[in-house]
Amino acid sequence: MSTSDGAQTSQQRERATTIFEKGAPGRRAFRAPDLDVPQVDGLIPEAQRRAQPPRLPEVGEPEIVRHYVNLSKRNFDLDSGFYPLGSCTMKHNPRLHERVAALPGHARLHPLQDPRRAQGALELMFDLQQSLAEIAGLPHVSLQPSAGSHGELAGVLLTRAYHGDRGEQRTKVLAPDSSHGTNPATVTMAGYELVKVALDRAGGVDVDDLRAKADESVACLMLTNPSTLGIFDPNIEQIADIVHGVGATLYYDGANLNAIMGYSRPGDMGFDIVHFNLHKTFTQPHGGGGPGAGPIAVSDRIEPYLPRPQVVRRESENGGRPTFDLDDGGRGDSKSIGRLRGFQGNYGVFVRTYAYIRSLGGEGLQDVSEVSVLNANYLLARLREKVGDRLPLAFGERCMHEFVLSGAPIKKELGIRTLDLAKRLLDHGFHPPTVYFPLVVDEALLIEPTETETRETLDAFADAIAQIVAEAEEDPQIARNAPYTTPVRRLDEAGAAKRPRVRQEL
Ligand SMILES: *Cc1c(COP(=O)(O)O)cnc(C)c1O
Repeated sequence: MSTSDGAQTSQQRERATTIFEKGAPGRRAFRAPDLDVPQVDGLIPEAQRRAQPPRLPEVGEPEIVRHYVNLSKRNFDLDSGFYPLGSCTMKHNPRLHERVAALPGHARLHPLQDPRRAQGALELMFDLQQSLAEIAGLPHVSLQPSAGSHGELAGVLLTRAYHGDRGEQRTKVLAPDSSHGTNPATVTMAGYELVKVALDRAGGVDVDDLRAKADESVACLMLTNPSTLGIFDPNIEQIADIVHGVGATLYYDGANLNAIMGYSRPGDMGFDIVHFNLHKTFTQPHGGGGPGAGPIAVSDRIEPYLPRPQVVRRESENGGRPTFDLDDGGRGDSKSIGRLRGFQGNYGVFVRTYAYIRSLGGEGLQDVSEVSVLNANYLLARLREKVGDRLPLAFGERCMHEFVLSGAPIKKELGIRTLDLAKRLLDHGFHPPTVYFPLVVDEALLIEPTETETRETLDAFADAIAQIVAEAEEDPQIARNAPYTTPVRRLDEAGAAKRPRVRQEL
């Protein structure tokens, strides 16, 4: 868009250029003071010196600030609007967490700091391990994995170590049709064969199919409960019995923990290994690529194989303060699957999670789950009332913290796809829900409002969807060509991911 006489506004000019096209030779944001000691040449060996100075943008500070602030405004973010991206738990990130994470003792802590001089940080990590163990109902925690998917990989490697230690070579891992894409990817990466388990008519695990497929060649069942369909599996005890009956482990994908915290614990359901997505359930700005954290909690029988080092607490012998340390299990600890990453994990995420758990307390975490489920059911009820025949609920009558609608009727009857509806929502100022996942629902729309949204926001979102459907009854072209108000229209998403152009060639 430009003004009617063809002139660009200064903001549009800003937006059009990369930082390499800005500035002028010799322009600087910062200049070091003149040397006040003698200059020494030749400290860096000739072979390691550049022939040419690096081609960096030469820009002043105001230009840098405008460039990046304008770029930041081109994206949608949780601080500017509702972000009901199912499965991702895009809840508000309390500002308290940012304050504590920015304290110099946290933010400037060096990862190679001697543990004796990082006692506060180690104590925080130890306490966090204890809290997560309590929430999961499983006693042993490793904070190392960097994301949920990394926790999954850790969990499946732990499963392999467990079976291997018993002299068993199992080859298969089971996962239901509704599972998140990272589950099958993990199974393959860990060298197992994926076997899909069918769903029953209520959207839960088909227990008969599970029984038919569970045998001594199965290492593990990976399950999300509540599932990505927003359904808590009522047969979980039976499922656990079947899986344990053939000597396999039960893995809990904890991405949906937001629905059950304080009400139900994976350990009590019979799971052996759990991952947490700290960036989802326990807040941490995410969606732009991280960092996240995916700690795992495990049962006694899996503990010997946990990654090392572990954060441990040592009681003082003379009644003084306990100390905290990193325990690598001693040399020759052959049972551990070893390190999963450099250093101890994404510490800033631990600080935010710790702040969240401590500021809410056990009852507060329970409230989180209660309100997230209430909000999802409220929004579901509003949508069923307004567009229930056009966007029916895929399974069941009610939901946990998220729910899946099917856009099959709007595709058939109005000629607009779920994708068109999602794109049109951007013009209403909302981030679209997750689309085309879970794969088992035709034209799926997976909606997760979270507990931090107001009733007014939920109402406005339901109104926007109803308006888009009504508009499509009149003219489906409008949604098909949406969005109209965003910096870019429809993108070649595969091209953007596979052939990114991150730098302007000069
Ligand atoms: C987000 C998610 C994952 C993967 O977690 P990451 O932290 O993104 O790696 C796995 N399973 C489910 C159900 C999820 O929603």
